[in-house]
Amino acid sequence: MNLILLGAPGAGKGTQAEIVCDKLGIPAISTGNILREAVKNGTEMGLKAKSFMDSGALVPDDVIIGIIKERLAQPDCSKGFILDGVPRTVAQAEALEEMGVDIDKVVDLEVADEVIMRRLSGRRVCSACGASYHLEFKPSREPDRCDRCSGPLIVRKDDEPATVRDRLAAYHEQTEPLVEFYRQRGKLVVVEGQDNIADTTALLLKALEA
Ligand code: AMP
Repeated sequence: MNLILLGAPGAGKGTQAEIVCDKLGIPAISTGNILREAVKNGTEMGLKAKSFMDSGALVPDDVIIGIIKERLAQPDCSKGFILDGVPRTVAQAEALEEMGVDIDKVVDLEVADEVIMRRLSGRRVCSACGASYHLEFKPSREPDRCDRCSGPLIVRKDDEPATVRDRLAAYHEQTEPLVEFYRQRGKLVVVEGQDNIADTTALLLKALEA
């Protein structure tokens, strides 16, 4: 199954992608995580992406298309994959089509902007493996330590309120048109994001079966 998770930053794409990839046995591919890793390692790509990410803007399409081309060519993607946070522009979606990537379903995870503002203030991520947590909705077992790899949990720089507002604006302007793009192709399913993570997963899995 080749899936795309669409939705605003903080809608729960990463959290749901982690759960669903374990259930379906296919990798979750997050361009955000790949970019953060590149920034951490100080690679050329990381240096190019950093200022865009810190300001809440989207990284240029050519960088993203290069990342995704390389990642989808890895052997673990042969049985399927979940794209989390990509495509984020019509140009990226068109590039996927041009690459001949066949998408089965696109899930639009819908959450209101006010809820997102509240959620992102409590988000913590593992600085080692990228797993995400929430102080209230998904606390780690040990404070400030990752359940998966024991890495330190940190606040993402771009989760600060002013940056979140810019990321939401970028989402509405550049990414939301993809909802219509995939609806026209008959691939869109809409899932209302719930406060409870397991409730959202249940709705998501049901939508994938339909
Ligand atoms: P995320 O973790 O998905 O919220 O991504 C964090 C940041 O990485 C975004 O705010 C963008 O600056 C950048 N980014 C991640 N994925 C993409 C993408 N597909 N297109 C453009 N920028 C992206």
